[in-house]
Amino acid sequence: QSPNTKIKMKLEKSLELYTKGKKHLVGAVNSPVRAFKSVGGVPIFIDHAKGSKIVDVDGNEYIDFVLSYGPMILGHRNRVVEKTIEKYLKKGYTFGASTKGEIIMAELVCDAFPGMDKVRFVNSGTEAVLSAIRLARAYTGHNKIIKFSGCYHGHSDALLVAAGSGLATLSLPGSKGVPDEAVKNTLIAEFNNIKSVENHIRKGGVAAVIIEPIAGNMGVIKPDAKFIKQLRELTKDNDVLLIADEVMTGFRSQFGGAQELLGFEADITCLGKVVGGGFPVGAYGARNEIMEMVAPLGGMYQAGTLSGNPIAMACGIATLKELKKQNPYKDFEKTAAFLEREMKSAAKENGIDLQVNRFGSMINPFFTKEKVVDFKSAQTSDTEKFKVFFWKMMEHGVFLPPSQFESWFLATAMTKRDIYKVRSAIKIAMKAVAD
Ligand code: PLP
Repeated sequence: QSPNTKIKMKLEKSLELYTKGKKHLVGAVNSPVRAFKSVGGVPIFIDHAKGSKIVDVDGNEYIDFVLSYGPMILGHRNRVVEKTIEKYLKKGYTFGASTKGEIIMAELVCDAFPGMDKVRFVNSGTEAVLSAIRLARAYTGHNKIIKFSGCYHGHSDALLVAAGSGLATLSLPGSKGVPDEAVKNTLIAEFNNIKSVENHIRKGGVAAVIIEPIAGNMGVIKPDAKFIKQLRELTKDNDVLLIADEVMTGFRSQFGGAQELLGFEADITCLGKVVGGGFPVGAYGARNEIMEMVAPLGGMYQAGTLSGNPIAMACGIATLKELKKQNPYKDFEKTAAFLEREMKSAAKENGIDLQVNRFGSMINPFFTKEKVVDFKSAQTSDTEKFKVFFWKMMEHGVFLPPSQFESWFLATAMTKRDIYKVRSAIKIAMKAVAD
């Protein structure tokens, strides 16, 4: 069971499935963080979810702050979204020819992001980003790209260096199987440090800088407003494209993503997660002159059997329309501020060093004295303390990402009652950390 013997949870059925699953599934999972490796214990298997709650196979019910790592911004099984999916299911699942839904979805996305005249839909955030990199290289004729340490942009070869998310969770510097040639054009800069970008750009040959404008894959790290402004100016002045990886922040930080919230416009924007409302959708888009490089208009090739899938489009459209109607961003901010206050006061009461980073509906605590502004400072967090905190929260009905280096997410389906329940769990969990 859990590594902490003081945790009392019924997890027998999850354990049974985990043991069975290991035979034919690698680590019994299809994505590494789900294995709970960094927090130990039994990874839970989910039976169903509704609204703000998720229920595992042992019948434990949790308020869900994982939300499938971001997409479920309305909570699970939103009524309007579900009805739309049901309607479209009856029309067929995939055609390999165009549908009206793709056009409606493209309008919704391009309206939200002023820097996008055209968009291409793909099946995941990884695909969106790897296509955006190819596009930046095609457009500029240069090969080098700059990424920030601790930012995660999916699992394509060129970007699996100094990456956050699962790699940070498992303390991996990169991935085996990625040849040196695949990463020799990937240069690493430090988040919130413009000099580190300047140094690379000065040497020339850079196609693009890619950034998570609000980092969420080393835990939440806020960008300094001055840093984003300088980054935009620096890239523009040097004819280097700025790629905003808004796979996590798109439609989440604001309807127009981190770019709307922070007031800048990227050259290429990548989307994923919320844009599909829980179905596999990614997207990349830019102004006309850049997107016209993409086949069939131009010579940069990128394709997909299931891209723009009609059910996924229907789910995305319904989710985005509902989100626009609900306009939850101010409420998210208030809820996140409340959670920050509660975590800090509980930590103080128990003599625990704690930083809480948040931006919009993304939030997470770091068990450290140091202000967390980049990957290095994020890594000062005491992950043993996080482990205890994580399992106590689980025991008290709150599902958090099983890693210090993942953001928690808010959903519109979370009620005041849910948040008060979370507050009680935080008080208990912080006390457990101190014990
Ligand atoms: N970019 C960012 C910022 C992400 O957070 C993620 C996934 O967490 C990705 C890209 C990769 O997206 P996907 O997991 O859909 O391939």
